[in-house]
Amino acid sequence: MRYAIISDIHSNLAAFEAVLLDIDERGGAERIWCLGDVVGYGPNPCECIELLQRYDHACVAGNHDWAALGKADLDDFNTEAAAASVWTMKQLGSKEIGYLENLPLSLEEGDFTLVHGSPREPVWEYLLSIYSAKISFAYFQTKYCLVGHSHVPLVFELSADGGDCLLHKVSPDTELRLEENRLIINPGGVGQPRDGDPRASYAIYDSERGVISYYRVTYNIAATQQRMKERGLPQRLIDRLSYGL
Ligand code: ZN
Repeated sequence: MRYAIISDIHSNLAAFEAVLLDIDERGGAERIWCLGDVVGYGPNPCECIELLQRYDHACVAGNHDWAALGKADLDDFNTEAAAASVWTMKQLGSKEIGYLENLPLSLEEGDFTLVHGSPREPVWEYLLSIYSAKISFAYFQTKYCLVGHSHVPLVFELSADGGDCLLHKVSPDTELRLEENRLIINPGGVGQPRDGDPRASYAIYDSERGVISYYRVTYNIAATQQRMKERGLPQRLIDRLSYGL
């Protein structure tokens, strides 16, 4: 079975549509695993929720999904993120609110635990360092954990004796073979990449081959930026999409 692993769509419909098309062109996926932050920052929150719901999928809650429901303290956000959250909140209808309200903090699917931030702090913790990743391995029961939140494609690997944690930066079109060691895997961000590459990032897990493949997808960044401008979203959020930062 093939699973598309996506995260941090962030209301960026153009990026999300380009990723879905790319998945199709690569032979499709039977199920989508979405690691949260469907909304926030971008111009099309309702359309992104609606599009995701058309697919067989599992999704967990992210900090921006919570913020759009008024469940997060906006003092924890920078000015632009908070402004975009207030705007997003006003766009959501009862259907979208109902969908976001029902997102769990974590899910287990086979060998994988799905969370937004980290298994220890599912909504808020960023896993970018070996130090925090190593601690995290004690907080999930499955062999592998999928995380988003940092918008950076990364893999943390725990050595067989549990003594060492390695950080692997992932290049596009890389194949990650699942072997004995436990892993924490971040597919990167669909709607607002932050690793210096502005292309949308995602991965496909092929359970028969035991392989996760990482991909980058070019999308119409200018179209998303134009929509953000029309909706009066903060300029810094518009600009950063060009740089992938
Ligand atoms: Zn995010």
